Amino acid sequence: MTEPVGRRQTLQALIKHVRFLLAIALTQFFSSWLYTSFAQAPTERPKGEDMNQDSTPGTLDPYRLPRHVVPIRYDLRLEPDLTAARFAGQETITLTVLQPTSEIVLNAIELDITSAQIEGNSGPARQATMALDASLERCHLTFTAPLSPGTWKLTMTFCGTLNDKLRGFYRSTYKDERGATHSMAATQFEATDARRAFPCWDEPDFKAVFATTLVIDPTLSAVSNTMIASETLAGGKKVVRFADTIKMSTYLVAFIVGRIEPTESVMIGQTALRLWAIPGKGHLARFGQDIAAASLSFFENYYGIPYPGDKLDLLAIPDFASGAMENLGAITYRETALLVDQHSASHGELERVADVVAHENAHMWFGDLVTMSWWNGLWLNEAFATFMEMLAVDAWKPEWKRWDSFGVSRAAAFSVDGLWSTRPIEYPVQAPKDADAMFDVLTYEKGASVLRMLEQHIGPTVFRDGVRDYLRAHAYGNADTNDLWVSLGKIAKQPVPELMDGWIFQPGYPLITAELREGLELVLTQQRFTYLPNPSPLALHPSPVTWQIPLQLRVTAGGKANTSRMLLTEKESTVPLPRDWESILLNEGGHGFYRVRYAPDLLDRLLNTGIDRLAVTERFNLINDAWAITAAGLMPFTDYLDLTARFTAERDKNVWAVLLDSFSFLNRIITVEDRPALEAFVRGRAGPAVAALGWAPRSGESELTKQLRGELIGAQGKLGNDPAIQRRAAELYRAYRNDAKAVDPNVVPALVAILAHTGDATRYDEFNERFRTAATPQEERRYLFSLAAFQPKALLERTLARTISGEIRTQDAPFLVSAILGNVYGRELAWAFVKTNWEKMDQIFPKQGLRRMCGGIVSLATPELERDVREFFTTRKIDLGGKTLEQYLEQLRIGVNVRERDGIVLRQYLQAFR
Ligand SMILES: [Zn+2]
Repeated sequence: MTEPVGRRQTLQALIKHVRFLLAIALTQFFSSWLYTSFAQAPTERPKGEDMNQDSTPGTLDPYRLPRHVVPIRYDLRLEPDLTAARFAGQETITLTVLQPTSEIVLNAIELDITSAQIEGNSGPARQATMALDASLERCHLTFTAPLSPGTWKLTMTFCGTLNDKLRGFYRSTYKDERGATHSMAATQFEATDARRAFPCWDEPDFKAVFATTLVIDPTLSAVSNTMIASETLAGGKKVVRFADTIKMSTYLVAFIVGRIEPTESVMIGQTALRLWAIPGKGHLARFGQDIAAASLSFFENYYGIPYPGDKLDLLAIPDFASGAMENLGAITYRETALLVDQHSASHGELERVADVVAHENAHMWFGDLVTMSWWNGLWLNEAFATFMEMLAVDAWKPEWKRWDSFGVSRAAAFSVDGLWSTRPIEYPVQAPKDADAMFDVLTYEKGASVLRMLEQHIGPTVFRDGVRDYLRAHAYGNADTNDLWVSLGKIAKQPVPELMDGWIFQPGYPLITAELREGLELVLTQQRFTYLPNPSPLALHPSPVTWQIPLQLRVTAGGKANTSRMLLTEKESTVPLPRDWESILLNEGGHGFYRVRYAPDLLDRLLNTGIDRLAVTERFNLINDAWAITAAGLMPFTDYLDLTARFTAERDKNVWAVLLDSFSFLNRIITVEDRPALEAFVRGRAGPAVAALGWAPRSGESELTKQLRGELIGAQGKLGNDPAIQRRAAELYRAYRNDAKAVDPNVVPALVAILAHTGDATRYDEFNERFRTAATPQEERRYLFSLAAFQPKALLERTLARTISGEIRTQDAPFLVSAILGNVYGRELAWAFVKTNWEKMDQIFPKQGLRRMCGGIVSLATPELERDVREFFTTRKIDLGGKTLEQYLEQLRIGVNVRERDGIVLRQYLQAFR
């Protein structure tokens, strides 16, 4: 899956919502998806046995089905009634009984099962006695006499509700141009919600063939994983029978029914590719189709295996909890992640669509063809797809310099992984819900970062060949993380598992401190990086000692740069230096997942040779590491603020993202009286670049420069509170309203953000109307989120009230609340609103939306608010799954800690700018 709101959001949006540290903030968007809540599921499982291997009927494991009966094939027939929001179903499951048994156990929940009978190769059908176990989401079928080993056909009839919770088989609604409401039905099964649509063996390693038939209103269309095999009319209904799927997991099954329209299909090799949207939106499909086509052929080449399905449909669903879902052959998306107008969208919005489309396509092999055995392997599935999305988009649009902007993703992972409350990338998962907390920045961004580090270490071709080996060895089956390391190690002829263990199974990452000894020896020391001192040095947080760090070192001597590669395995290593060394750079190329702290003399030399001689990612890491080290109290605050002055000539949007985000952090922790001084400081830092870039693109300018212009203008108008910029923004917005081509698309988001920041009730009404009548999903989102960026309390109150009134889709409402929590003018208000309306929000928001909303608390960086937040979550005993809440609270603590530790120094420093 992909998370709902861009994890690599445009800087504009970051600043608009005034977030915390570059990426600490992003975490609120990164956690989990739809997962089933096992309300009363026992938390213990029998120890000392591998349940995966257990084939004893009546196993005690509450999370893994017994393995004495195995499904081979599902013949599914479903008849959804969109008006009544119900569906009727019938299925025949062909299964193998491995040992005599009188009991079959499979998964089902919120289904009304009306009959179940089984037939063997001979003899009459036998009725089953059914018992449902709602807490374990299971159905037990018992027979009066044992079933003998062999093949059986189990037939069940059932019915259920098309729910509004965006999981299982659910209903999505939309309004047409005349304002009439229409319904459609869609599915979202990962991780464990296929069982809400049909009784099944709902675990990833029970792979089977699915043959689906949908019985629908003749005016509607139906899409499932495979091509349509036949379409007939019967009893006034359209009966759509789909071809057999490959052998695959239940969580990848999908069916979508509604008034949806396809694009003309294009052939990519042997595969017909189409996009689907509700009527009136098909013209927004072109860009998505282009990257879908490009990435599909890219992956066929990269993996060296043809696309595993028989066609590929990509569908935009108006209500969708995550960003997208990799159902084989029928990938579902929220509209903003698939549909876009190439001419009016900003670069960031286009990049988002390209990323998500490439990501889901990558899963068709990695995830769908070869699937994790159990949910502990989920991280690899997602990390790998994230890594591959970069490769594919980079190959498609090299001028986007995708690996440079990946620095922002890596920085997001660094922020969360620098917490004591972080977790290892992979950890044991017993209940599927334990994997909830895996849909986060550590899985996607840290996972992809360490894969990139490994790829660079063993070489891209060797890496690719290892991946091919892995996919061929496990096609149509399941595999574990170690299987990938084994394949990579075999091809690389290197001990890959040993290298990767520390990065995968230890929490955190190293900080390498570089110092000089005797002037001619470089001493490198590794230690775990954290923002706060160890809260319990002895017991609870045993700090990992070392990592195996692939280090790339560049030493410039006599005007020549020399690169050396080494693997740091010890706590301390020394590197001899040439007598005439001039400067030293660690983490050349910037692929390493570690931070660097230079001793002051080394840093001076590096800076004095000119930061413009560093590559983009190296400059990015230099400032990003310096900021983190400053927040951790390891570098004087004033040194960091001085350092930012060296970047006024910077023209890379990613480097600016770090700078501006650190300024946003300051905005959150300073007192109200200091705000004018901070604004002046920001104007001083960003002003030269804003003036140099101007308001309109120059001929031949890159997309990236255009985006930087928009982001810097936005920052100058909001964080810098620059009246001249604000006046010009108002003028240009007027021009844009008269002629949409009057302003570059990358500047429009900045205009909207600035006008919301300075706006009154009239502007609010205008933007609200623009939200309601937006022409594209991106415009809709832009104006919706602008309603969180105003300053007057009465306006923010209106926005808050609408998040729970049913007026705003529940896929978006929690993020809107989170955005107001991040608005320094609205955070107290939003926090009070959350406290008052918690029950209602808990009831109506999708579970992962509620969790992400709570990510907004990291912005409440005053000692009083922090106390109140802690008290609320403690007394309510709220659990957001995994370590999510602990991480939010620690991020909040970091902000308040900087305020308490450095507040006075900061105030004195800023006074000079008033
Ligand atoms: Zn994914």
